[in-house]
Amino acid sequence: MRQVNHFIAGGASGGTGRRHQVWNPSTGEVQAEVALGDAAMLDRAVAAAKKVQPEWAITNPQKRARVMFRFKELIEANMQDLAEMLSSEHGKVVDDAKGDVQRGLEVIEYACGIPQVLKGEYTVGAGPGIDVYSMRQPLGIGAGITPFNFPAMIPMWMFGMAIAAGNAFILKPSERDPSVPVRLAELFLEAGAPEGLLQVVHGDKEMVDAILDHPDIAGISFVGSSDIAHYVYRRGVDNGKRVQAMGGAKNHGIVMPDADLDQVVNDLAGAAFGSAGERCMALPVVVPVGEDTADRLREKLIPAIEGLRVGVSNDPDAHYGPVVTPEHKARIEQWIDTAEGEGAEVVVDGRGFSLQGHENGFFVGPTLLDRVTPQMKSYQEEIFGPVLQIVRAADFEEAVRLPSDHQYGNGVAIFTRNGHAAREFAARVNVGMVGVNVPIPVPVSYHSFGGWKRSAFGDTNQYGTEGLKFWTKVKTVTQRWPDGGGDGSNAFVIPTMG
Ligand code: NAD
Repeated sequence: MRQVNHFIAGGASGGTGRRHQVWNPSTGEVQAEVALGDAAMLDRAVAAAKKVQPEWAITNPQKRARVMFRFKELIEANMQDLAEMLSSEHGKVVDDAKGDVQRGLEVIEYACGIPQVLKGEYTVGAGPGIDVYSMRQPLGIGAGITPFNFPAMIPMWMFGMAIAAGNAFILKPSERDPSVPVRLAELFLEAGAPEGLLQVVHGDKEMVDAILDHPDIAGISFVGSSDIAHYVYRRGVDNGKRVQAMGGAKNHGIVMPDADLDQVVNDLAGAAFGSAGERCMALPVVVPVGEDTADRLREKLIPAIEGLRVGVSNDPDAHYGPVVTPEHKARIEQWIDTAEGEGAEVVVDGRGFSLQGHENGFFVGPTLLDRVTPQMKSYQEEIFGPVLQIVRAADFEEAVRLPSDHQYGNGVAIFTRNGHAAREFAARVNVGMVGVNVPIPVPVSYHSFGGWKRSAFGDTNQYGTEGLKFWTKVKTVTQRWPDGGGDGSNAFVIPTMG
């Protein structure tokens, strides 16, 4: 059985403790085992990080950027292998897996500009002979705890910014698809980073708690489900750390009566079902405005959804692949049962789906639910599967209210030809990322990513200047240089606050 090991101080480290099985979701077979680490393993990683971080922090930013440039080139050269490895453990199709790597790579590209973005502020003449300047200094050792659904992109969101800013970084990826994060760390070393600058420790709650409690880890970035995000946030902050913790989502797509419905259906097919719906920026709720819009949309959605091709993750013709684990497949099907029990109409039913020749794979067929209402549990909670729910809104006001009142506030989209309605919606909706005729509005790497409400705890976003803020602290220097003329006029006096 293939073993996935920790990556500590530039090399593999197996450990002797517990291990966790890594599935191939397309075949339903266990393809590897990953080591589950503990506090002692984390101590080893922290010790290695402490050895190299001070030197890295004072390495000039242009030299740090050179490592990022080489890393970028190595990722490009290894794109196909990374995507295939990712696809085989996660289940998303290979093209989608390339997108996962690509969106992370874009943050690395942004990090290549670190000398420019790290420049501080300077005021000449804040007082007589007094200048003031600020600098951004790294926190020291940062850690990232990441979810299964973007095993390349989310680690790169975090360590790209953290390391470029002068920190060492310890990554604790999801135990469900751990191989790509290790491969990224190997490539980073190959790019010229010192051993111990980027390390990977695997594990579950035991390792997460060790990270949260470790006195030498100064900043923690978490992405995952909301209850755990909240837990990580509270425990980390209680321990005096800087923490940002992104949580779950239930993104809505508002469809105005004037929208181009063919375009909307096409967008929804990708945004609701791509990656089997296992995206925090998926669009699992569609809100047509007015009964007529709802009926017309439903009529077009049914054949589009029935026509989706579900396949193994390396099938180039598949629209989407299996979900990540058998437990997750069972949970999604239970949510469809729950929705039906609550009175939703199951228009297209993906339960019990079986792929010929791959009967043990974790496949869920595409599902469409209509007449879903805000009172239903299946609407309030995240399903994270290939399930699209139609919630009919009477008017624009109700369409603004639905995503605004939802517990999650990650992303939202509006489809319309009316610029005024779009502008009004974007300004008023209580959600962090908004798309106007863009179904998955993940901001580009030089903006930043972050939801609101229970989709994010903490007050800085991922990547861009927000990411830089998170991974650095500001130091401000106020300086006065007397001319030393010797006549006593510049003699130091005890300063007063005046
Ligand atoms: P998860 O919360 O189960 O796991 C996330 C991380 O937490 C993993 O590294 C896991 O090992 C660790 N973990 C699991 N149980 C833990 C516990 N009891 N205590 C401490 N740590 C624990 O999430 P997941 O299923 O891997 O990922 C899917 C979730 O992530 C969805 O809710 C999705 O919406 C969310 N997500 C959010 C964003 C965002 O930016 N808001 C992005 C991607 C995914």
